[in-house]
Amino acid sequence: MSIPTLISIIAPAYNEEATLPEFVKRTASVFDEMSDYDCEIVLVNDGSRDSTLEVIRTLKQQYPMITVVNLSRNFGKEIAMTAGLAEADENADALVIIDTDLQDPPELIPVLVEKWRSGFDMVYGKRASRDGESSLKKSTAAAFYMLMKNVGSTPIPRDVGDFRLISRRVADALLMLPEKHRFMKGLFAWVGFPQAEVLYDRDARFSGATKWNYWKLWNFAIDGFTSFTIAPLKIASYMGFITALSAFVYGLFVLFKALIWGDSVQGFPTIMLTMLFLGGVQLLVLGVIGEYLGRAFNEVKQRPLYLIESIDRAERDVSADESG
Ligand code: UDP
Ligand code: MG
Repeated sequence: MSIPTLISIIAPAYNEEATLPEFVKRTASVFDEMSDYDCEIVLVNDGSRDSTLEVIRTLKQQYPMITVVNLSRNFGKEIAMTAGLAEADENADALVIIDTDLQDPPELIPVLVEKWRSGFDMVYGKRASRDGESSLKKSTAAAFYMLMKNVGSTPIPRDVGDFRLISRRVADALLMLPEKHRFMKGLFAWVGFPQAEVLYDRDARFSGATKWNYWKLWNFAIDGFTSFTIAPLKIASYMGFITALSAFVYGLFVLFKALIWGDSVQGFPTIMLTMLFLGGVQLLVLGVIGEYLGRAFNEVKQRPLYLIESIDRAERDVSADESG
């Protein structure tokens, strides 16, 4: 008898005390039906302020397939996911990234696994509907995807969250990317390999509240954008070029006007206008450069992505199988 295929479920949790028991229960029962597969549930506690860690530890007594990764503070979902991928059992043949708030139904996992078995390295869940989201959130999301598609160098599939299955080699490829501004949706798209999508209805949150607000989303979008395109820097130089050219043309005009008709002291509005305009353009361009410089600064610091306070690995009984 061979060792069953191992699938690691990577689930980042930040203040999810209310949803975790239900999440683990539903995920474990999905695997009860999948007898050919072993399952490890990597719960990454991302510096929660509520009793998430205690809830996870209690759950682990009942479900030994849980691996508890306890980060030293809140690092944000992108990094929590990376930590989960890095700390998952290295024998895992496929890894599933899923939210713990049950917005991504664990019952979809067998479908993802089936697609993976048919030869895809990455199988992502695509939202057939975005229930419970405001029209503002929907329209800003649409604008972001459109921008990324037209200006970004890596096309990112629309309405696809982080919920997906990735093969071992995709996980290894992701872990090879050392960048600190980890816009995972973009990194997933960047690594490539055969990909397939599975449509699903994204449920409303089981309990608790979303950790996103518009300010965070805005910063997230800037991170995504700057990580995958330098178009704003190019726009800055084009803008500089156009302004300089028009200033030159205007300068010629002023010169000839003064030569032909002489110069009377006029033109205060023109001076103010050009000064304010140029000052504005310069500040804007400096800001754009600053965004990139700041990110370059963060990258060269070479800090570790995250720190783990404690880790408690899943128990997997394979000894009996190995002898056979
Ligand atoms: N999350 C996390 N760290 C954070 C914020 C969120 O690990 O700093 C987790 C959270 O526990 C959940 C998932 O990321 O499992 C998605 O978060 P949320 O539901 O707030 O995002 P939304 O579904 O609204 O996009
Ligand atoms: Mg959610």
